[in-house]
Amino acid sequence: MITIALSKGRIFEETLPLLKAAGIEVLEDPEKSRKLILTTNQPDVRVLVVRATDVPTYVQYGGADLGITGKDTLLEHGSQGLYQPLDLRIAKCRISVAVRSDFDYQSAVKKGSRLTVATKYVAISRDFFASKGVHVDLIKLYGSMELAPLVGLADAIVDLVSTGNTLKANHLVEVEHIMDISSRLVVNQAALKLKQAQLRPIIDAFESAVAAG
Ligand code: AMP
Repeated sequence: MITIALSKGRIFEETLPLLKAAGIEVLEDPEKSRKLILTTNQPDVRVLVVRATDVPTYVQYGGADLGITGKDTLLEHGSQGLYQPLDLRIAKCRISVAVRSDFDYQSAVKKGSRLTVATKYVAISRDFFASKGVHVDLIKLYGSMELAPLVGLADAIVDLVSTGNTLKANHLVEVEHIMDISSRLVVNQAALKLKQAQLRPIIDAFESAVAAG
């Protein structure tokens, strides 16, 4: 049995064509079904529906052989025990620093003030601001980061940005582009050895589909 861990939403939708290229069709829609284990047209391939931040954990401990997750999640989680053979170039976005449009970020940074930064991405933020020599107090949030500067909880946020519409709707502006983000294939290292014959064709089909795409 081959088990693939995916999260609902954008990653799931954008993974379907890659699975198809490997001859795998998911037979249930996670948006309609409450099932957490989805069957496929291949009796020996199943898909687990997990939270995006849990994908590396399932793959690391062998609850799944393969998983697809964002570079942001991998950087926050760490990638011990995970083989990362492929950038799938899906769910593309960037991770950025944003502030209220009336906040003078450049002066605050230049003056060496301490910035309060709200984010789900504590590790990425700590590394980024340390590399700039900016002192920060980090506030961990689990969602809706855009609210924090609006109610005075933080001077800045670090969050994923795709179109920029969410920032604009909340009167925030992007002031730093930390890095580009896309989703990666992750593979359990033991499974790669023990299930080589079943996993290799899937990884190769993904690789060809990405190269063609
Ligand atoms: P946008 O308004 O298109 O810039 O999207 C920003 C919102 O969508 C933010 O709340 C982000 O956390 C979320 N977002 C954007 N891109 C992604 C992605 N690739 N994966 C997960 N969340 C994302």
